Order: sequence, then C-alpha cells, then structure tokens
Amino acid sequence: MNQHKPDTIAVRTGIESDSQHHAVVPPIYLSTNYGFPAFGEVPTYDYTRSGNPNRSLLEEALSELEAGAGATITNCGTAAINLWITAFLGPNDLIIAPHDCYGGTYRLLNTRAQKGDFKVKFIDQSNDLQVQEALSQQPKLLLIETPSNPLIRVVDIKKVCNQAKQHGTLVAVDNTFLTPVYQQPLTLGADFVIHSTTKYINGHSDVIGGVLISGTQAHAEKVAWWGNCIGATGTPFDSYLTLRGLRTLSVRMRQHEESATRLLQYLNEQELVGTIYHPSLPDHPGHEIAQQQQRGFGSMLSFEVNATFEQLKVFVSSLKLFSLAESLGGVESLICHPATMTHRAMGEAALAEAGISQLLLRVSVGLEAAEDLIADLEQAFTIAKESC
Ligand SMILES: *Cc1c(COP(=O)(O)O)cnc(C)c1O
Repeated sequence: MNQHKPDTIAVRTGIESDSQHHAVVPPIYLSTNYGFPAFGEVPTYDYTRSGNPNRSLLEEALSELEAGAGATITNCGTAAINLWITAFLGPNDLIIAPHDCYGGTYRLLNTRAQKGDFKVKFIDQSNDLQVQEALSQQPKLLLIETPSNPLIRVVDIKKVCNQAKQHGTLVAVDNTFLTPVYQQPLTLGADFVIHSTTKYINGHSDVIGGVLISGTQAHAEKVAWWGNCIGATGTPFDSYLTLRGLRTLSVRMRQHEESATRLLQYLNEQELVGTIYHPSLPDHPGHEIAQQQQRGFGSMLSFEVNATFEQLKVFVSSLKLFSLAESLGGVESLICHPATMTHRAMGEAALAEAGISQLLLRVSVGLEAAEDLIADLEQAFTIAKESC
C-alpha cells in the first residue's frame, strides 16, 4: 500500500473500505458516540472528539502524502498550530517564527506569549545570521512558512532543519501554499508539517480545516492525545468533504500552476506591472532553493502595480473573474490587496518594514480558463490606463 504514488493515495484511501454495504465511497459517520461491543470491551471509536472513521481516513491519506507517521485533523489551520505549541511548549520554552508568517499565526503566538504561556521570537529566516543567533538561544520549536505570504519568500528547509537539529530544536513547516504535491518537508528534515486544509487541500473554499502531521510515531501519539484533550479535532462532515477535495489535489495543483505560468508571462509584458513575486522567475530571491526543494513553483503570485494608487483601485474594481477576497487555493481566482486586507492589522510601519507596498496585489490563480483570466486582466488594465 505504502509504495503508491501521491495521485493514487489521494484517490484510493478508504475506497471500498465499507464492510456493511460495500459502498465504494466511504460512508459518513455523523454519530457522536459508539456502542461498546461488550462490558469492559473498548471499541476503536467511542466518542467523536477522540476519534471518528471519516477523520481517520483523512488523517491516513494526508499522513501518507506527507511521508509522516501519523496525523491529527483539526477544526482549522490555526487550531493545528495551537495544538502543536500547546503540546510542546512550556512557560520557559522559546519558539522561533518567521517575521512574515500568516497573520493569524503571528497573533496567536504573540498573544499567548504575552500571557506568559511561552516565549516567542520573530526573525527573518532567509537571513542566516538571524537564524544562527536565534538557534543559539536553544529554542524548543521553530516554525517555517515557505513560500511566505504575500512576498512568496523561500526558506531553505534542509539547511534550517540541519542547523535546528544541532540545538535539539523541533521544526514544523507550514506547507499550506504548496501541499505535499509540490513539497514534502518531512523528507527534507522537518519534524512536523502543518496545513490549513481550508486552502488547496480541500480546494473548493467551502470547508475550514487543518492538520498537524508528525514525522515519528511518538510525536503523532502525543499530538493525538493533546488534540483530544484540548478539543481541537475536526468534525466528521468537514473531514468527509476535505477528503473529497483531496481526491483531485494533484490535477488541481498542476492546472493551477499551468495557468499561473501563463498569467506570469502575460503580466511580465504589461507596462502597468512592476516587480512580480513568484519562485519560478529566475531573478526571484528564492528561485534556486525552490528548484531544489519544491517539485513545482505553485500558483500564488504577487505583483506591484506600476501606476498610482487610484489606478490600482480602478484596475481591481474592473476585474470580473478575480474575486476581491482573502484566503486562497480554491477553484476560483482571487485577488487581494494585502495592505488593506490580509495584512491590514500590521500598520503602516510594519508593512513598510516587511516590504509590503501599498501597490502590491496578491493573486490566487484559480481553475477558470487561462485565456479568460488573461482577457479579464487585459480589459481591467485598459480601463486603469485610461483612468489617469
Ligand atoms: C490560512 C492559513 C493559516 C490558517 O488556517 P485557518 O484554516 O484559516 O485557521 C495558516 N497558515 C497559512 C499559510 C494560511 O494560509
């Protein structure tokens, strides 16, 4: 079973596993509780917070796709990060996180550290000196997010993990942007992988979910115990839908990326487009590391508009096939203005320090026909040009 390719694992996990009616697609078990077969005999599942067949199937599939030893499905990606830090950090322990991590992750780590639950330090992980300095403080945990949001910065997973090992630091990689189809952090030396399955893994923008995958059996058991203890686990229906989405992950990722490549070519030729951020571009800072550690470049891209802020507003408002919305990784194309949307809580000074300009736009390339997406960009650029 374990020798199968990712596409096969995603499609086949749980298929024909129903012993009751031989349903080809695994049925959904909504029951919150399960009978004990006899007095004193504990069943595999007794109560859904601690375990459920639909959650187990999704855990099995995601763990296998990430080359892990076990996984715990959580009610959202943030809950997966919270589960990880709750299970492994004490009040005197330090966690190192990227200064440009997901906004919700920043808020979670910062708020809990201020409460005294643990210590946190945010650093630029592409800066070797900062990584070395942080590791010399013997942190318990280190979180990597690569590629990062919204500037698509790439962190060298293998290098950072090697350095972390020398200090006994456990590393988790938030692999939400690439999924196991394009990047498998456990094979590069990480100890854990975290996903917001809300994004590409479910892929249809209709389920909030997360997962924490462990590289060892001992860690997987500890995480599962804590998941039940603090009540972080996901629901059966969400697990069912997410496994349904996962079935097509590989084909979606390939098509997302093919369309992203075509959009990049188009954007590269536009006079209203300034710097483009995507690891496939040879002059992108993380291009070479991305080529080594990723199997694909992914379909999240950002670019600066080479025009006035007013023209940017006209451009965005004129788009018909890109929804102005946060989140990412769904079948539908999205456009986001980080400074007033996903990253608005940062404030002007922090935005400037992180290199997030007021003229930056982020795109999650969806699965509409690339020709249609390009035609839509074209008409919006034309209106924006005429508006000045
Ligand atoms: C969305 C996201 C999260 C948080 O996940 P939720 O499911 O929204 O709780 C964490 N990390 C990254 C990279 C994300 O994009």
